[in-house]
Amino acid sequence: MKELSQLISSIPASVTLAVNDKAKALQAAGHDVIALAGGDPDFDTPPHITAAALAAIENGATHYPAPMKGIVPLLEAIADKLARDNNIHIDPKTDVVVTPGGKWALNLALSALLNPGDEVLYLEPVWVSYPPVIMLAGGMPVPVSLPSEDNFRITADALRAKITPRTKALMVTNPSNPTGRVVTKEELDAIVEVAIEADLYVISDEIYEKLVFDGRPHYSIAAAPGMAERTLTIDGMSKAYAMTGWRLGWIAGPTPILKLVARMNSQTVSSAANFTMHAAVAALNGPQDIIAEMRDSYQARRDFMVKAMNEIDGVEVRSIEGAFYLFPRFPNSEKNSLELSEALLDKAGIAGTPGIAFGSSGEGHVRFSIATAMSELERAVERLEKFAHEL
Ligand code: PMP
Ligand code: GLU
Repeated sequence: MKELSQLISSIPASVTLAVNDKAKALQAAGHDVIALAGGDPDFDTPPHITAAALAAIENGATHYPAPMKGIVPLLEAIADKLARDNNIHIDPKTDVVVTPGGKWALNLALSALLNPGDEVLYLEPVWVSYPPVIMLAGGMPVPVSLPSEDNFRITADALRAKITPRTKALMVTNPSNPTGRVVTKEELDAIVEVAIEADLYVISDEIYEKLVFDGRPHYSIAAAPGMAERTLTIDGMSKAYAMTGWRLGWIAGPTPILKLVARMNSQTVSSAANFTMHAAVAALNGPQDIIAEMRDSYQARRDFMVKAMNEIDGVEVRSIEGAFYLFPRFPNSEKNSLELSEALLDKAGIAGTPGIAFGSSGEGHVRFSIATAMSELERAVERLEKFAHEL
């Protein structure tokens, strides 16, 4: 048989999704596993959103949507949301495409920007899918390692050190998965300065935008002066509205880039699902207090977990500013993060994601999702006490 694709063979499958699948399979087989691996809210999708989808199905939204890149009420709802929440002003007719999930929006962004060999900077620790999606679009992933000791701070110097004549774009996740950092004004200024100076496009992944704690501000990069023409903003329903299974995201940005994005979408997935678009309209235009309530629950869980875990000898964890992942270390252990997460599963029945999956600067850490019921988190703490003691 002839050789299969070298490109696809060279990329790993998503570790977060694999560990998630494994934990769910163990649970289904009757094992008492606490699943802290995948970033999937434990809340149900709010009922007014589900009702809108059911009504849309009954009203015939079961065909191809029109336009394929997103039904007009949704394109307009996204433009309104961007203006209202993010101070980003786009034309809904030309500057936004609806996608089956934020992950596909990232693929579209890179496909529209890159030529073979173009280098793309990303901040490490990084969400598992960034290097593979860069490679799938023909680019070269270039990590900018942010040191844990400096609380993963972004500086202009760290970015500049990785720029070459081939550098085309910079990817930023704000808030960050897995570190839980939220970009400060100082960090925003550093990103803007370097992007303009080196003529870079910026892909700003704001999927956790609504999950920012302690009343901190969230800065959208496209709203900064000089950035609208070079920034693609990625967002979606998965995290804020507890809608991971609906597969709905979007990409917004400059008209010439969005033209290529729409072309690529039309030749690949064709469109997102029609009735989920109707659900997204209900979500974006409907009451928003429900997402603030979910955010407050994540914040309470963060407070509980950070305090309880730091009280355990042999576990160290930083508090987080946003998203719903804790990124603890086990300083007394010699084990690497893969061994640690295996031991956590085998000995403590806790499924977490090994830090190495987020790049070499994630080594030594394990990622725990706190998008998990408080009762499960309490059980996890009890088990961690025993686990750390035996390490
Ligand atoms: N970006 C980041 C940083 C994520 O963690 C996720 C989580 N899946 C996504 C994008 C994409 O999410 P989705 O495809 O469910 O919209
Ligand atoms: N983004 C989530 C995570 O990091 C969901 C899984 C995935 O898409 O990778 O766990």
